[in-house]
Amino acid sequence: MNLDVDKIREDFPILKQNLYSGQLVYLDNAATTQKPISVINIINEYYLKYNANIHRGVHYLSEKMTQAYEASRKTIKNFINAEHAHEIIFTSGTTESINLVAFSFGEQYIKEGDEILVTQMEHHSNIVPWQMLCERKKAKLKVININTFGELFLGELDNLLTEKTKLLAITHVSNTLGTINPLKEIIAKAHKKGVYVLVDGAQGVQHQQVDVVDLDCDFYVFSGHKIYGPTGIGVLYGKEKLLNEMPPYKGGGDMIKSVTFEKTIYNDLPLKFEAGTSNFIGAIGLDHAIRYVSNIGISNIAEYEKELASYTSIELAKIEGVKVFGNAMNKSSIISFNIQDVHSFDAGMVLDKMNIAVRTGTHCTQPIMDFFGISGTVRASLAFYNTTQEIDKLIEGVQKVKKLFG
Ligand code: PMP
Repeated sequence: MNLDVDKIREDFPILKQNLYSGQLVYLDNAATTQKPISVINIINEYYLKYNANIHRGVHYLSEKMTQAYEASRKTIKNFINAEHAHEIIFTSGTTESINLVAFSFGEQYIKEGDEILVTQMEHHSNIVPWQMLCERKKAKLKVININTFGELFLGELDNLLTEKTKLLAITHVSNTLGTINPLKEIIAKAHKKGVYVLVDGAQGVQHQQVDVVDLDCDFYVFSGHKIYGPTGIGVLYGKEKLLNEMPPYKGGGDMIKSVTFEKTIYNDLPLKFEAGTSNFIGAIGLDHAIRYVSNIGISNIAEYEKELASYTSIELAKIEGVKVFGNAMNKSSIISFNIQDVHSFDAGMVLDKMNIAVRTGTHCTQPIMDFFGISGTVRASLAFYNTTQEIDKLIEGVQKVKKLFG
């Protein structure tokens, strides 16, 4: 393993704290990640010294804040290798980014009888906005199914992509099963049929290199808080041509060039989609989070997390009665499992008392639960600051749960 994890952990003060009876073991990184001290410090510094609203002032503080906000846009552009900084739209997170596209793309491109394709492994936030769009426009939602390994049935794709299909909304990585979808192949197939593709990168961008030009996706969305940045800030990447053709999502200040009661002229990208006061200090925090991750190196992160996830799976498999959900060939560091005859909530509560934070329940992916015929799972989601010692504690915890409820 090629990371100096002890040194990295020094950057995350929260990980040092004791809970009930010992040090926190934080294995809920798919829900939200912890923040390095550099991110916490920069947010403090900007509130302490430079707070002023962006884009609207000529004074020193406003200029300084505007520059930092726009610099963050450039950092993100470079991080995901977008062609232009104005293809990066700041939102409040993945959910808002998807809703923005579902509304604005929907207004421009979707009419009665059209089809939107999603997959059975999507998070609710990549299902419901499309259902709402379909309801509004009398369009139809179609689904690519999964198999028992938690992989997509890609054999169905050619039949599901019809001349009526306008958009495919697909997750990069399943937040429940850990499956990494073969995006390049899927996007190429969709494009061959003239279908646009939105990628939900909420669980992708923090674990592997994303190159939106190479992927050729039309939209890529993610949340700041899942990539070691603050809450309330997120990203919508969209191809310039599409973003230009789409109408604004929200009206208000900053998204206009001029307003009269007769007619409003909308602003150019990216501000056309950033009505109102945005989370500008959040954007600066995200900038620093991305710099932090880039300094470690996303390929180093990917390699380390893969080894740690594989260690976790091997150790869990040794425990009789533990069933893992999601055994895709290409898998991220998310491991969902159940312990025979134990409700996931009960398991989670026992683990909590052992200072281990895992998530339990449906993980906002009810269709996956229905597919496997379960009410929920225990989910351990790993980050580069987790250690094998922490996994050993998880394994000890699972054994204790088994003993208590077995
Ligand atoms: N998609 C996926 C795959 C997710 O894991 C999540 C968060 N659990 C979301 C979308 C929603 O992200 P947010 O709540 O930050 O908008």
